[in-house]
Amino acid sequence: MDLLEYQGKQLFAKHGVSVPEGRPAASVQEAVEAADDLGYPVVIKAQVLIGGRGKAGGIKLANNRAEAEEHARAILGMDIRGFTVHELYVEKASEIEEEYYAAILLDRSTKKPLAMLSRMGGMDVEEIAERDPNAIIRIHIDPLIGFQAYHGRRLGYEAGIAGDVVRPVGALLAKLYETFVEEDAVLVEVNPLLVTKDRQVVALDSKFTVDGNALPRHPETAAFRDPSAEDPQERMARERGLTYVKLDGNIGILGNGAGLVMATLDVVAQQGGQPANFLDAGGGSKADAVVSAVEVILSDPKVTAVLFNIFGGITRCDEVARGLIEAFNQIDVKVPFVVRLDGTNDEEGRRLLAEANLPNVHVEKTMLGAAAKVVELAR
Ligand code: GDP
Ligand code: MN
Repeated sequence: MDLLEYQGKQLFAKHGVSVPEGRPAASVQEAVEAADDLGYPVVIKAQVLIGGRGKAGGIKLANNRAEAEEHARAILGMDIRGFTVHELYVEKASEIEEEYYAAILLDRSTKKPLAMLSRMGGMDVEEIAERDPNAIIRIHIDPLIGFQAYHGRRLGYEAGIAGDVVRPVGALLAKLYETFVEEDAVLVEVNPLLVTKDRQVVALDSKFTVDGNALPRHPETAAFRDPSAEDPQERMARERGLTYVKLDGNIGILGNGAGLVMATLDVVAQQGGQPANFLDAGGGSKADAVVSAVEVILSDPKVTAVLFNIFGGITRCDEVARGLIEAFNQIDVKVPFVVRLDGTNDEEGRRLLAEANLPNVHVEKTMLGAAAKVVELAR
């Protein structure tokens, strides 16, 4: 789960990572009150789960109340790369002398946290890497040893940051690492990591991703979840207990078991199709779960065809077939379905489907055949 900037900064502050003083605001009036409280100049910042707000006009400096009001009014409701701004963060303005980049993320390939530092902050990390791949210094941290002072010094010296801030930047990185571990994060990114005119080191921005599976351990973070900011299909699926991830394509996918669903996405892509979602109906899927899943898939208007890929183990194919028939009874289905049933009670399942004679449902025997068929139908 991704956090908004101010939420991430709250967690930073809790672990001693320095951040400017600020207040969230959900209306123009709240923003002006927050600005009056903090004292001018302030920065009014759009709170959306996407970067590049500065370039998009979602971050503005206000020197007085009139400017604060004007900027808050302009930014609230603004669209930033597909995200509507519902919340603002009002922050005491900082005087910038240097902008660095710092991040700690979980590197799954080495199974270790990876700490990164660059003296070229402020721009996208991809852009930094493109301009000068050596400008980003990376060190893997052994989780049993943790982040030590020498990690901070090495990152600081190799990144070529100003000599006088090597120690304070190292100290901030150590606290950032502590935040990463204690909050069960998979990514904490600070861009820019700021050195102010009076040589204070401050996190000016936060990008914070926590491991959703660890949320039960963090009620404070779980409370940050904002249903209105979520994708509507993903919310619908979560409320129904389905594992669903929305993707960019137009072929709806349902399978039972995460591995099978991922393999299905691969095969569909290999056949030249673009999956619209990942949906794992889970092992032992019963008919009502199937109905529920079909509703979620079809609620995405981009879906032009659906592939059901079921391998029956605990799941019984006849149950899935009943669910599909029930779904067609309840919902006015307008797109073609391709169904592949294999494993426990597959013959029974296919017989039920044949008897029901559902419009526009194509039964295929193999996964590859089913993928080829759905790609053809989706066009
Ligand atoms: P992003 O564009 O979404 O990454 O948002 P950031 O929070 O990183 O802000 C973008 C840029 O706005 C920063 O790199 C700064 O140059 C500028 N900015 C943000 N806050 C302040 C501030 O308090 N003072 C000044 N002078 N510039 C700021
Ligand atoms: Mn930033």
